[in-house]
Amino acid sequence: MPLKLTTTTRYVLLVIVIIIGLHSILSFTHEDYSRATSLKHIASQLSWGSSSHDQVPDEYYVPDSASALPDTLLSRRANATLLMLARNADVDNAVRSVRRLEDRFNKKFGYPWVFLNEEPFSDEFKTRVSNVINGEVTFGLVPREHWYQPDWIDEDRAKAGREKMVADNIIYGGSVSYRNMCRFNSGFFYRHPLLEQYKWYWRVEPDVHFHCDIDFDPFLFMEDHNKTYAFTITMYEFRATIPTLWDGVKEFVRAHPEYIARDNAMGYMSDDGGNSYNLCHFWSNFEIANMEFWRGEAYSKFFEFLDRKGGFYYERWGDAPVHSIAAALFQSKEQIHFFDEIGYEHNPYTHCPKGEGAWARGRCGCDPKRSFDYDGYSCMRQWDRIWD
Ligand code: GDP
Ligand code: MN
Repeated sequence: MPLKLTTTTRYVLLVIVIIIGLHSILSFTHEDYSRATSLKHIASQLSWGSSSHDQVPDEYYVPDSASALPDTLLSRRANATLLMLARNADVDNAVRSVRRLEDRFNKKFGYPWVFLNEEPFSDEFKTRVSNVINGEVTFGLVPREHWYQPDWIDEDRAKAGREKMVADNIIYGGSVSYRNMCRFNSGFFYRHPLLEQYKWYWRVEPDVHFHCDIDFDPFLFMEDHNKTYAFTITMYEFRATIPTLWDGVKEFVRAHPEYIARDNAMGYMSDDGGNSYNLCHFWSNFEIANMEFWRGEAYSKFFEFLDRKGGFYYERWGDAPVHSIAAALFQSKEQIHFFDEIGYEHNPYTHCPKGEGAWARGRCGCDPKRSFDYDGYSCMRQWDRIWD
């Protein structure tokens, strides 16, 4: 029998439905509003004024309720991968780093991982690492010609260089494999077939820590703000590892003035207008960057030029100063970004967000008082001064 309602009953029901509807809309708006205002409040407490410490805007943050994969996977994603170079013997520490970044960031965003090694990864490495990753993961082999010391390097000269560094107690001074790694990270990783499809990478090393929730997508932030290279820690390089690097840089710049950006970050790396290098560099064990920059003409020529000098083997040039110098010279300083929000530790240094808002919002476990930023060995002052 069809349900018959009097006009009055219909009217009452309609009013009830409207009231329920209005209430849910209003309470949602209210919650939303109070969240937004408390975030604004937090943001207003931040002390950073200069653009060198720009905070990631609210719209890049993902609310907790949208965290489950895959159905709530964000509609906008960057063409990006998380990247780790590691040896089989690094497996315990590799697993630790992956767990930490998955927990603090990637369980929400689901970016794929790529692992590279110049030796085939063991079954144990692949099984244990895959076990702590939800999403896609691939394991790749570095081609021989991207890794080992080239034949045209004079081994007698290289050996003499290593022995001198051992005698002088320079860290990794006697290691050929460390030099292979630095050269690979300087000029080859972004040409690996597994990375060719990607534009962005986030470099992760075994046994690093992520001390805060990273509820925003750093790749999208960088893409939208025309950033190319991002860091969390900057410090001095050991001069003994790069005695002739800056001479090479100056020679390259004289030959190719067309690659130097007008609004570059030279003032961060040099205290005398480019005559000498003050050893400041971005610590490259953490890097989020656009590989198109490394693949581009300026950097390709730069790397080729430096590689031909042989300094990766005759000295012990690190990928950190090589990347940093290129990033600082061949593009505007605005394209380099300092991520204050990303609490990060690689023994022995930690970056802990100092802005009170960022620290609370990220539920950071680190001690801001012990952040490396303005430690005596840090180059943050040199970074800051170019924004005055
Ligand atoms: P440090 O941070 O300068 O002390 O150098 P690490 O020992 O942490 O090495 C830097 C990165 O390169 C890490 O991701 C290591 O796992 C990786 N690495 C270093 N040497 C080798 C190597 O000989 N083979 C492979 N596959 N990875 C290496
Ligand atoms: Mn390391």
